[in-house]
Amino acid sequence: TDSDGVEGWGEAAPAKIYGESTETVLAALTLYGQHLPEDPFAIESIERTWETALALHPSARCALSAALHDLVGKKMGIPVYQMWGLDPAKAPRSTFTIGIDTVEKLKVKVKEAEQYPILKIKLGTDRDVEILQTIRSLTDKELRVDANTGWNVKQAIRMLPVLEEFKVTVLEQPLPARDLEGLAAVTRASRIPVIADESCLVAADIPPLVGKVDGINIKLAKCGSLREAQRMIAIARAHQMMVMVGCMIESSIAITAAAHFTPLVDIVDLDGAALLASDPFKGATIDGGQVRLPTAPGLGLSRQ
Ligand code: MG
Repeated sequence: TDSDGVEGWGEAAPAKIYGESTETVLAALTLYGQHLPEDPFAIESIERTWETALALHPSARCALSAALHDLVGKKMGIPVYQMWGLDPAKAPRSTFTIGIDTVEKLKVKVKEAEQYPILKIKLGTDRDVEILQTIRSLTDKELRVDANTGWNVKQAIRMLPVLEEFKVTVLEQPLPARDLEGLAAVTRASRIPVIADESCLVAADIPPLVGKVDGINIKLAKCGSLREAQRMIAIARAHQMMVMVGCMIESSIAITAAAHFTPLVDIVDLDGAALLASDPFKGATIDGGQVRLPTAPGLGLSRQ
């Protein structure tokens, strides 16, 4: 809340694999939430300060960054996408994720995902072929695959013809995060575009990936700020890379913060709030897959 009583909203979705927990986020926010800037419009310098002070707390910073953008948009009386000069009609359709499960439960999940035109299938098990086969037998929708670092180079290359057979259009993170040479080998062998997720957290991770993967997956909980996300988009574009935006399991606050820059990306995977049993907030939606941005000032959020 600023001195005029305007509130900015943000959300942190800490991930253990990136070294965060509810406790670390609360500690970081308690420490820095009290030292908010005099001038909220100085977004660049504020985010730089947080980047230095909270280097290892990307999801905590992401909450502050989203709240700052929300606040500034509200003070200007325009939605965040308009602050950035973006056309909300350019937002692509979002995938809906089908998690690893038994054949019986996969059938239920595919049915539940009826309204979503593109499915993202989680693989990285010893039953990957069966999972793909099951889902493909139930639907002719576009399928994208996320192996979540679950394969080695040999397994990944062996899976490529299978992915082609089942008409998979995108392959996300086939190998462990640090195996960039392996990723290069898989990308060379693959006709399906390969996207780096766990291998690409922040803008500085992109140059080493150039020529080794076809694109990157940006998540606010990894990169820590809305401005860093935009830098990542610019750097990836300069290298003719595809840009995807993904999410954690999070409410409509964090999803909406990411949704505001979707007009700049090729692939959207913002089903985090749709996967929740109950979402306390309203913001961007992915009804029928299409990303729809709220038009109210700031992030355009409200309570359910
Ligand atoms: Mg992923």
